[in-house]
Amino acid sequence: MEEERLVSAHLQGEDADEKNLRPRNLDEFIGQSKVKETLDLCIKAALNRNEPLDHVLLFGPPGLGKTTLAHIIAREMRSSIRVTSGPAIERPGDLAAILTNLAEGDVLFIDEIHRLNRAVEEILYPAMEDFALDIVIGKGPGARSLRLNLPRFTLVGATTRAGLLTSPLRDRFGVISRLEFYSCDALTEIIIRGAGILQIEIEKEGAVEIAQRARGTPRVANRLLKRVRDYVQVRAQGVITKELAQKALDFLGVDPLGLDYNDRRLLTVLINNFGGGPVGLDTLAAAIGEEAVTLEDVCEPFLLQAGLLARTPRGRVATELAYGHIGIARPKNAQGRLW
Ligand code: ADP
Repeated sequence: MEEERLVSAHLQGEDADEKNLRPRNLDEFIGQSKVKETLDLCIKAALNRNEPLDHVLLFGPPGLGKTTLAHIIAREMRSSIRVTSGPAIERPGDLAAILTNLAEGDVLFIDEIHRLNRAVEEILYPAMEDFALDIVIGKGPGARSLRLNLPRFTLVGATTRAGLLTSPLRDRFGVISRLEFYSCDALTEIIIRGAGILQIEIEKEGAVEIAQRARGTPRVANRLLKRVRDYVQVRAQGVITKELAQKALDFLGVDPLGLDYNDRRLLTVLINNFGGGPVGLDTLAAAIGEEAVTLEDVCEPFLLQAGLLARTPRGRVATELAYGHIGIARPKNAQGRLW
């Protein structure tokens, strides 16, 4: 289901050109002021001391700019970046090969770092702490351990789930920053910037309309911008106005809060079939024919953040806002009335 969703925060085929839209330095990076400030400070201090930057862990939902920030860090540190991901590093030897090929000051970006396997992770501990690689030569009683020095590098790890990181790994990061969903103002700015790069004519109100439906996520904002452009090109031509953006987004099935068919269906089933909850995740998933993990990872984060759904010890509950948004009157005796 996730692959086809226009409002998915995950990278999709049609986002292939998003590299062009990526801000290149901290000044161009819009929003996330706290993260930016922290990084700016650490980078300046490291440059001053002529040392590599401390290891950085970035966490937060997909599409918020973790990869972008890793590239920016490398650029601001005037160093090169090597990009890989947790699932791509299968064996300790794979990581050893990457580490020994780094140059002094390089940035190593590991996306989805929570998915590193244990054996690989253990190689990372001395590498991060002492810039050393411990190799065991031979087997049995004659085995010897050899310590190789590595160039001093900066590890930038990204994860959507900081809670899944083991504490020995988490503790080895000097900077841990959490990325938040973007405000409508920040997204509007991102859309206007993107439109400039893609040479799309858009009015400020048109950008605001797209921003409101972009689920706090720059990746979604950029994707919606391109789809709205297509619609306007074919149906109307000219500048993207508020009205045209509204028409295009309605046509694309993205409602004023950024919900698509799947989100609305989830809320409708929760309200109509389960009296608004509380209902267990598995039961709800079965009722809409979805896997529980998909619900939890894909639909829920945004619905929770938008205040349409609440997670309680007894299960999921539709909030008052959800009733209002779906357009169903909320019965006086609705359960979970605290929400
Ligand atoms: P993540 O690694 O968190 O999944 P990315 O760094 O790949 O997210 O960001 C997705 C896209 O969103 C980028 O290619 C970029 O075009 C855009 N983007 C992300 N953050 C910003 C930002 N702060 N300002 C402008 N564009 C951004």
